[in-house]
Amino acid sequence: MSKYDVLIVGGGHGGAQAAIALRAAKFEGSIAIFSNEEFYPYERPPLSKEYFAGEKSFERILIRPESFWQERDIEIHLKSRVTKVDAQLHTIETASGDHFGFGQLIWATGGAARWLSCPGAQLPGIHVVRNRDDVDGIMAGLENVRDITIIGGGYIGLESAAVLRKFDKNITLIEAQDRLLSRVAGEEISEFYLQQHRMQGVDVRLGAQVESIEGEDKVTGVKLSSGEVIPSDLVIIGIGIVPCINALRDAGAICANGVDVDELCRTSLPDIFAIGDCASHANKYASGAVLRVESVQNANDMASAVAKTIAGIETPYNAVPWFWSNQYDLRLQTVGISSDYDATVLRGNPADNSFSLVYLRQGKIIALDCVNATKDYVQGRKLVLNGEKIDAALLADSNIQLKEMQVG
Ligand code: NAP
Repeated sequence: MSKYDVLIVGGGHGGAQAAIALRAAKFEGSIAIFSNEEFYPYERPPLSKEYFAGEKSFERILIRPESFWQERDIEIHLKSRVTKVDAQLHTIETASGDHFGFGQLIWATGGAARWLSCPGAQLPGIHVVRNRDDVDGIMAGLENVRDITIIGGGYIGLESAAVLRKFDKNITLIEAQDRLLSRVAGEEISEFYLQQHRMQGVDVRLGAQVESIEGEDKVTGVKLSSGEVIPSDLVIIGIGIVPCINALRDAGAICANGVDVDELCRTSLPDIFAIGDCASHANKYASGAVLRVESVQNANDMASAVAKTIAGIETPYNAVPWFWSNQYDLRLQTVGISSDYDATVLRGNPADNSFSLVYLRQGKIIALDCVNATKDYVQGRKLVLNGEKIDAALLADSNIQLKEMQVG
């Protein structure tokens, strides 16, 4: 049985970055990444943006060229799904029944796209956007498709809608909540994106419940609880993710919403770390609330922290969260976590397609959403880091740069 000093499960951003950062930290032990995909690690954000739009080839979204992994002596096991972990013996088992040993394990499996559970949900013609195969599958049949229904008004749904409008498809977008991006953004941002998508011709339905997917041998429509059937040649589901943690839970790791980790990203099992979308941690930028942050930043920064810890320098994870989303000619950049804000301040005018929404809690700046306003995003980061308190009228004055308001 082969044994690796560090065995990484998951070949996404977190898994790849953990291996890269270990070598950068001069870690000389053996490293292997086990990935259930058949491709070398690649970037996920372009899947719902430039790769989907055909503007970037797959080679251009590889995290590193294939040769990099060989040169750094990082073994990559493709098409290898890890199904069991034995925490006492320090071994894993793959779906093909092979066993491998580890000194330390980094669990970086992210999440799988949540699927609908209504009647008809298994019909051909229903897709998600989570990995390369998903996007290639959508593109392969797109020529013969006119009407597309997207279920879910989060980033996946909205970015997909923006791409597919470029291909001139008829898009209906169904969101169960009464506003778009309700999990991640304030009302002003939701309203702005609603108007933008409607202006671009997307038929957005808010507060709408999907009752069933219609069709005999492939999807033909989406039936809402109102009884209306929306004609659909293709359906895309973007209703969130389910963290991939079964093997760790079965191994005895404490899991609630994802795998619980401490400030060093250690699970409750010895020598087993977890990072990225699946790791539930107390986040300093959410007042210490225990949550999973689903973002590339979180995966990369957790990976780098764990790599340093394994290489001998204990490094707690406490990076400031940031996100971005491209839709049409709008670039949304977010810094901080806005979830428990109690007030907002608008800088600039949404009608100019360039503005920022600043989120406050008890007067402290906790996050910013910046639409085509990169200066605010860059300068606002410091305000979030310092938890700065600034008078609302001053904050709202977009003629004054944020860096000029900084006190701390
Ligand atoms: P998401 O951000 O969780 O949004 C899904 C939305 O769909 C939520 O508003 C959800 O409402 C709604 N929904 C749930 N069930 C529904 C139903 N049956 N019918 C209609 N609407 C329903 O998830 P996502 O957009 O699928 O994205 C998946 C992951 O990829 C997330 O981690 C996301 O952050 C990440 N991602 C990020 C970016 C970016 O940062 N730019 C881009 C793409 C993807 P409820 O809250 O009520 O469930």
